[in-house]
Amino acid sequence: MDDWNTRTKLVHGGVRRSQYGEVSEAIYLTQGFVYDTAEQAQQRFEQAGEDEFIYARYGNPTVRMFEERVAQVEGAEDGFATASGMAAVNGALMSMLRAGDHVVSSRALFGSCLYILEEVLTRYGVEVTFVDGTDLGAWRAAVRPETRAVFLESVSNPTLEVIDITEVARIGHSVGATVIVDNVFATPIFSRALEQGADVVVYSATKHIDGQGRCLGGVILGTQEFIRKTVEPYLKHTGGAMSPFNAWVLLKGMETLDLRVRAQSDAALTIAQALQDDDRLSRVIFPHLPDHAQHAVATRQMEKGGTVLSFELKGGQEAAFRFLNALEIVVISNNLGDAKSIVTHPATTTHSRLSDAQKDALGIAPGLVRLSVGLEAVDDLIADLRGALDAV
Ligand SMILES: *Cc1c(COP(=O)(O)O)cnc(C)c1O
Repeated sequence: MDDWNTRTKLVHGGVRRSQYGEVSEAIYLTQGFVYDTAEQAQQRFEQAGEDEFIYARYGNPTVRMFEERVAQVEGAEDGFATASGMAAVNGALMSMLRAGDHVVSSRALFGSCLYILEEVLTRYGVEVTFVDGTDLGAWRAAVRPETRAVFLESVSNPTLEVIDITEVARIGHSVGATVIVDNVFATPIFSRALEQGADVVVYSATKHIDGQGRCLGGVILGTQEFIRKTVEPYLKHTGGAMSPFNAWVLLKGMETLDLRVRAQSDAALTIAQALQDDDRLSRVIFPHLPDHAQHAVATRQMEKGGTVLSFELKGGQEAAFRFLNALEIVVISNNLGDAKSIVTHPATTTHSRLSDAQKDALGIAPGLVRLSVGLEAVDDLIADLRGALDAV
């Protein structure tokens, strides 16, 4: 199984068949499990074996199939599934940190990740230093002997800066820190963060893994020691468990993940190239465009550029709003990685909580638009985008 290719692991990884031999994975929609005897119950609470379950907050067969499938694809020893991507980020950090620890994190973060690092951890006596993630000198200057964890989003949202996982991991490891990477934008298909030096990888499965806008989910991947000794006790007692139904939806999503994200990423590159010279835009950002600020890191670290591009309209927020409102195929929403192309105006939605100074520092201009490219015909998408630009 270890030498299966990714596409095979995505279809067959982690499968547990019941006595009926079902083809499609079964949904074990049960919160608990019955024991044959009192002695068996006692034994299971003492030390549950590989396929022995107690309570769905601790584990469930459908959820376990999902955890094993993602872990196999990522090349991780083990994984723990969570109710959402944020439960995964929170679980990875809170399970391992205590008062007096120090964390270094990149500054360009998903709003809720920023909330955990800036508001939650600091409330419990953890000190957090934020750095420009693309500046290796800043990482070097920020780490110190009490740095327990380093946190980063490998591709930032919405300006798509790419952080060098290998180099940041080397810096983190020089002081013995655990390197935690939120790898959502790169997807488990385009970048193997563990191979690149990370110790722990987290995904919001809500994004590409579902990819069809149906449910929330998340997963933490790492060594068996970290998952079972650090993450599992924290999560099973604090309740961020994934629903078995959602695990089943996500298992089905994984079967087509590779096909979907490759098609979406190819379309994203085609669209980025088509818009690149449009004089109504002041910039087009896509990690695999040659003029991207971290193009060398992006092409080394990611097999493809991802499924999201961002661009800035010259007329500011007014032009951006007129553009969004004129689109006929692309919908206005805030998810990404979906089969449906989605456009977002970060300054007034996902990043509206930030001050103008913070937005400026992160390059979130009033005219900036984020486009998550779906599975529609790319020619239709380009026509829709050009039509909306004409309408501006
Ligand atoms: C969406 C997202 C999350 C949070 O995931 P949810 O499933 O919405 O909780 C965390 N990090 C990144 C980079 C994301 O894009």
